[in-house]
Order: sequence, then C-alpha cells, then structure tokens
Amino acid sequence: MTLSLRARIAVPLIGPPIDDAVVCVSDSRVTWCGPWKGRPAFVGEPLIDLGEQIVLPGLINAHCHLDYTSMAGLLPSPRSFTDWIKGLVALKSSWSTTEFGDSWRKGAEMLLRSGTTTVCDVEAIPELLPAVWSSTPLRVISFRELIHLKRGDGARDLVNNAVEAMAKLPVEAGGLGLSPHATYSTTSDLLEVAGAVAQKRQWRLMTHVSESDEEFEMFMYRHGPMFEWLKGQRDMSDCGLGSPVQHLERIGFLGENLIAIHVNHLWRHDAGLLGRNKVSVVHCPRSHAYFHHLKFPRTDLERTGVNICLGTDSLASTRRTESEPVELDMFAEMRSFFEAAPSIPPETILRMATMNASRALGKANELGWIGEGALADLIVIPFAGETSQVYEAILHHRGPVAGSLIAGRWAIEPRL
Ligand SMILES: [Zn+2]
Repeated sequence: MTLSLRARIAVPLIGPPIDDAVVCVSDSRVTWCGPWKGRPAFVGEPLIDLGEQIVLPGLINAHCHLDYTSMAGLLPSPRSFTDWIKGLVALKSSWSTTEFGDSWRKGAEMLLRSGTTTVCDVEAIPELLPAVWSSTPLRVISFRELIHLKRGDGARDLVNNAVEAMAKLPVEAGGLGLSPHATYSTTSDLLEVAGAVAQKRQWRLMTHVSESDEEFEMFMYRHGPMFEWLKGQRDMSDCGLGSPVQHLERIGFLGENLIAIHVNHLWRHDAGLLGRNKVSVVHCPRSHAYFHHLKFPRTDLERTGVNICLGTDSLASTRRTESEPVELDMFAEMRSFFEAAPSIPPETILRMATMNASRALGKANELGWIGEGALADLIVIPFAGETSQVYEAILHHRGPVAGSLIAGRWAIEPRL
C-alpha cells in the first residue's frame, strides 16, 4: 500500500523545513521526503494534496498514566506532595477496573486528536491489557507498574510474575517495559531484580526519580513528611545515605535503558551521574507547574549530556486553566515548557517531543523524524505563515490536528 502527501511545508527534523514538499509512504514506512520539484519518477498513489498545511513527525509522549485520565479535577490542590499521593492512593482504591479502562481509552482519544502518535504509558492496572491496545491506533509502549515496600524475596516473585504475564501478551500490539514506580515506593531488591530482567529482555525502564522536595529530604536526611508517612510501612535502611539519584547509582539502576521521570531535585554530582550513565529524563511541564516544584534543572542536565524528553504525566496532576480544557495534549506541554523557559528555540522544544523521545526508547533510527526508512507516523496541522516561522507556528498550534498517520494508516483522516 502506498500513499503520497504534498503539503505547503514538511518539517523532517533531520534537515531544514522543506517548502512545497512531498512525503512518500509505502506500507508502514516513509520512502522519500523532499521538495515536490525534485520528486522521484514514481510517487506512490494516491497523491493527497494537503495544501496550506505542515506535515511533521507525530509527537511522542514520553510519560503518561492513561488510566488516571478521568481523575482530572478530582484531587484537591495539594498542600504537599505526600498528601497528594495519599489522596491518589485512596481514589485508586475506590475505582473499579471498568472505570480505569474507560479512563484509559478516554486518555488515548485525547492524545490521538492532539497529535501524539506514540505514548509511553505506565500501566497500574495490567488487567486492562491487551484489550485497551486494540481500542486505539496509537503506538503504545506499556510499562508495567511495580510497587514494593518490604525487603526480601517478595520483590523477585512480584517482578517474575509480572514479567511472565506480560510475556504472554501479543507484543505486536505495543512495546513493553517495566516501571518500578518511584525511588520512594520501591526497595533496592525490587530495583535490582527489575533492572536485571529489563537488561535481559532489552526492555526500557521508567521510574519517577527525585520528583518532590519531600522525597529528596527523605533520602538525604531521613526526615520530612514523606519519611514520616512511609517509615511504618517501608524498609527505610536506604535513607540517609545520599540523594535519590545516588541511591539508584549504588544499586546499578542507572543506564541507557532508564527513562527517569521528573528529576526536579539534584544533589552535587547527580547530573554528572545521569549523563555518564546515558539516562534519559522526562520533564512533564504542566505536572511540574501543578506541584509548584523548584525550577526544572534543565541546564545542569543538558551540560552533562542528559537526553531530555517531554511527557504529559496524568490529568490527576494537571491544573484546569481558564483558556484551555484539561486534556492530555503534547502541544499544551510544549507551550507550558516554553512559558517557563522562553529563551529556548521552539525547534529545540519540538525535538524534545519527537527525536529525543525516540532516542530514549532506543528507536532513534526509525521514529521521531521524517525521511527514508522512518516509520510513517506523521501529523498534519494548518499553516498560513512564513516558512521562517514554522517552528513557532507548531509550538503555538491549538486544538485537534488536521490529520494523523500511524504506521502508514490514517488514524485521523486528513482535513483538506
Ligand atoms: Zn507519572
């Protein structure tokens, strides 16, 4: 099956924007991307002229909890991170599997219509898989959430049982990974076992790391609200020895296959440890604003070569604004990031939501850009400006996309 798309402009990201461009697709891959004038002798049919629009790579949401989508606005504005987590745990326990499933599907629809084509999702309710995968054309990489607070063999059984169940799933429906939930909600035993399994199976790991000052305080100094809350239920012998990042380094958990979520609080050499170990970090701008965390340490991380991506996190930690509905939307995340750091070029921000994320997933050779051999995951948005302003136009795009192609098939038919 072939298809060609002509458009006012294509943004391949591996080269400069192309005016009057054509993108040729065969089955699930791009076979050519370049100027209409220099097109190959054979341009695959049908040829669709998108007119005054931009074709760009589909966005990659590097961190999400789709099953929490319907929790939007249900948790009160947090006085502290620990209070918020307690509220989330209580809310989760009151929900049925059906509610989580409906919530997951609602979130996937929001992401699709706002231009995401790949999502890295933390699965707290594994029973939803694989049915929810077949409910969406999105490329979903599902990271099985693992929480364990006590030392001992329980961790090994927990991981092995989870992996055994996951290995039975039809892998073609999505990629798989493990998500030891957070530094504070896991033990060293669990992290060690999960790290070894991920290494063996060549899976990615996704863990919340150094998200709040309360977690930082707990690991560094053995006190604070999170320490007080967890000390009766968690083995705290790993606290008082250094920062959350140092904790992961001691266990040997830092590596190229780790996608560390948030990383808002760094101790002296933490950025260097993450950079040296080739860890990728996901920043979730609207979730960051919701909790009023300290400024995201982007420059420290970039200086040591850390690959930074963007994610939505969940709607349970996204604030309602006057101007926009509360929806999972990577364009809203890019804009929120830009508002906090207006000196960063829009092109750099778009790369965080595309190429940087594909690198974090180990898929840099086929995802997050447009060119020969890339997966045909493309989105279309209207454009009426100057070519030199194309990245600004992308950053400020609002509302649904005008088309979405995933693996060479229309997930949203193009609006002409
Ligand atoms: Zn999260």
